[in-house]
Amino acid sequence: SLADKTVLNNGVEMPWVGLGVYKVTEGDEVKSAVKSALKIGYRSIDTASFYGNEEGVGQAIAESGIPREEIFVTSKVWNDEQGYDETLEAFERSRQRLGLNVLDLYLIHWPVAHTYKETWRALERLYTEGKVRAIGVSNFLKHHLEELLDEAQIIPAVNQIEYHPWLTQPELHRYCHDKGIQLEAWSPLARGKKFDDPILSELAEKYDKTPAQILLRWDLQQGVVTIPKSVTESRIKENANLFDFQLSEEDMVLLNTCNCELRFGKNPEIFG
Ligand code: NAD
Repeated sequence: SLADKTVLNNGVEMPWVGLGVYKVTEGDEVKSAVKSALKIGYRSIDTASFYGNEEGVGQAIAESGIPREEIFVTSKVWNDEQGYDETLEAFERSRQRLGLNVLDLYLIHWPVAHTYKETWRALERLYTEGKVRAIGVSNFLKHHLEELLDEAQIIPAVNQIEYHPWLTQPELHRYCHDKGIQLEAWSPLARGKKFDDPILSELAEKYDKTPAQILLRWDLQQGVVTIPKSVTESRIKENANLFDFQLSEEDMVLLNTCNCELRFGKNPEIFG
């Protein structure tokens, strides 16, 4: 169910499914999406300083009446906020906007060259001070992680990357698994741009599920946390309805054959 959780490498529990709110407008739109999700049973929200909607996310949580400790809130430090002192300040701003004392997960949004190691030191301090329950990274390739782990005191709990059947990054996936870093999929629906793929359509028909549900179920069966975005209540509900069916081994393999290095977002090798 939506209450199902993975246990991160520091023992903190994180829901397998959350609501992503990238490109959701601050104010009424984000408040309404988060409120719908919480009503449906979502207990994890993925925002970022860059998304410009942390205030609305915080207000929706406060107004939901759900105990704070039952909701897992992720935010991220943006590229122009990185560096040691800068990150400590950026965290303070995110915390203020969200209206929360403690965040559940704070991520380095992108591996900004020459800076992300300093940024990581700041995240380690925030974690040690108890201001965030887990720290992690986003858009880190294997070589970024290797470099980070060279000096890190704390191993990232999570790496949030673009991940869907057309971009499976098996080597990075294996590396994260071996290091105890939980993989989290962004754009798990491939931004809605692959719903007419013939393999996906065939599976949707076979399981009598929607293409979105097939994609999200594929994440879960691989042990990947997933954060689909929608502002439409019926779709938010649909994207959570993943727990009454199972893809067969063969169909998991079939979906994995879609892999073709197709990115809808930026490439971390050149952006950051
Ligand atoms: P997504 O793959 O979740 O696709 C979202 C789009 O798919 C929606 O805008 C809608 O058009 C469509 N959609 C959603 N549910 C649907 C349904 N049931 N049926 C039909 N269409 C549906 O794309 P995303 O927003 O890019 O990724 C999800 C979340 O991941 C973001 O909101 C954000 O929280 C996170 N993210 C993180 C990064 C990063 O750099 N760390 C980058 C991008 C996104």
